[in-house]
Amino acid sequence: MFDVIIAGGGPTGLMLAAELRLHGIRVVVLEKDAAQPPYVRSLGLHVRSIEVMDQRGLLERFLAHGTRHPLGGFFAALLHPAPERLDTAHGYVLGIPQTVTDRLLAEHAAEVGAEIRRGCELVGLTQDEHGVTAELADGTSLRSRYLVGCDGGRSTVRRLLGVAFPGEPSRVETLLGEMELTASPEVVAAVTAEVREVQKRFGAGPIGDGVYRVVVPAEGVAEDRATPPTLDEFKQQLRAVGGTDFGAHSPRWLSRFGDATRLAERYRVGRVLLAGDAAHIHPPTGGQGLNLGVQDAFNLGWKLAAQIAGWAPDGLLDSYHDERHPVAADVLDNTRAQMELMSTEPGAQAVRRLLAELIEIEEVNRRLIEKITAIGIRYDFGGGHELVGRRLRDVRLTQGRLYELMRGGRGLLLDQTGALSAAGWADRVDHVVDGGGELDVPAVLLRPDGHVAWVGDDQRSLAAVLPRWFGAAAG
Ligand SMILES: Cc1cc2nc3c(=O)[nH]c(=O)nc-3n(C[C@H](O)[C@H](O)[C@H](O)COP(=O)(O)OP(=O)(O)OC[C@H]3O[C@@H](n4cnc5c(N)ncnc54)[C@H](O)[C@@H]3O)c2cc1C
Repeated sequence: MFDVIIAGGGPTGLMLAAELRLHGIRVVVLEKDAAQPPYVRSLGLHVRSIEVMDQRGLLERFLAHGTRHPLGGFFAALLHPAPERLDTAHGYVLGIPQTVTDRLLAEHAAEVGAEIRRGCELVGLTQDEHGVTAELADGTSLRSRYLVGCDGGRSTVRRLLGVAFPGEPSRVETLLGEMELTASPEVVAAVTAEVREVQKRFGAGPIGDGVYRVVVPAEGVAEDRATPPTLDEFKQQLRAVGGTDFGAHSPRWLSRFGDATRLAERYRVGRVLLAGDAAHIHPPTGGQGLNLGVQDAFNLGWKLAAQIAGWAPDGLLDSYHDERHPVAADVLDNTRAQMELMSTEPGAQAVRRLLAELIEIEEVNRRLIEKITAIGIRYDFGGGHELVGRRLRDVRLTQGRLYELMRGGRGLLLDQTGALSAAGWADRVDHVVDGGGELDVPAVLLRPDGHVAWVGDDQRSLAAVLPRWFGAAAG
């Protein structure tokens, strides 16, 4: 029997598997596809995901395969540089194709001991008070204590649970593909720039070896999005929207995506949870979906591990829904807003011009960037110091960097006073006495996901907060 079955080996499921393994949880990932598909959806990691990779010692391998880009221009493609002095040590976007991200996360999950079964589809599930039984397409079944549906926007787990997925269906559809173009790079660039002045859902950018990544609005919304467009359909839309098909030929792959926007009503039903696209879908504007899923996994992993290990305080596992559901609702809203801002309707274009003016105001620009990069998130821990509920940026310490000290996925009491103690929780919380100087509060208690649970210098108030996140002190 496994502790956790994860349905879906996309970025969310793989990240979650690795998080659970940090705590010795026996985990299996079931992935229905026998091999990784060639389609490249996400093109990069935003600041908070980059920080998350750093907090788990994965950043070096991502940097080795990615390219750093400036942060500005991601909100509705409004071209404006990011404000200076963002509250992060990683003020850039890491350009990296999702196929590479998925491969790196799969390698890492396997290295830390997760079992990944490819070509293995979950088709049914039942749960009782002791565990969950997953029925597989090959007629066999598997048993575990918990199961997490990370099986994407058309989640089988969500459907089997009967969890409602309210929101809006797709109103527009976009064709996406990689192909060769006979038109010269100068012509492609000039036409693209001209069309994009009004139609932001049009684009053709070189990705190397004479291949371009091309996007163009579709004519309508396909009944079955799983059926890819033909090259002829693609070229026809390029001509209709851009006035030329660039002599497109030799497609590597073609696909279509919509702008359906939906949020699961509940992230947990008993012993079964939902994460990533299984819990929320929205258009890819701003490049947030993969990042959101990876961060769901980062929030859930240690809580589920604590539940299985038996030290989770009441409500810890449910705090996953309470914290992450509003974050997804906010992302859905900002993508709805971005889609409006990218509409070619005159009213929407006027609002766009207005926002282009407002983004010149540094605080407006900062707020939008903090949304897209997810560094503005503040979970509701009930108030307190303004850092409480937020993730803490990396800071230099005399013993190294804060994020390097978090790689084990444990809680951390970072203490500049030297007078505090978390001794009763030493098996769950590291106590680091360090006066590195960059931290401008006496001490912070960090959860394993880097969010600040407590700030201060008073032992009694610290002792009151520790059980809320880390359970009872050891006897
Ligand atoms: C065109 C496009 C561009 C995008 N660009 C960005 C971007 O720049 N940045 C960004 O952050 N996000 C982007 N996204 C969104 C991103 O691709 C998704 O949010 C992300 O892949 C979600 O990860 P996931 O692991 O939750 O789900 P998925 O990646 O969908 O993975 C789910 C996995 O579950 C498997 N599965 C499904 N059903 C079963 C089953 N019954 N049993 C077993 N396995 C199953 C599937 O085969 C799949 O491998 C983009 C999306 C699109 C369409």
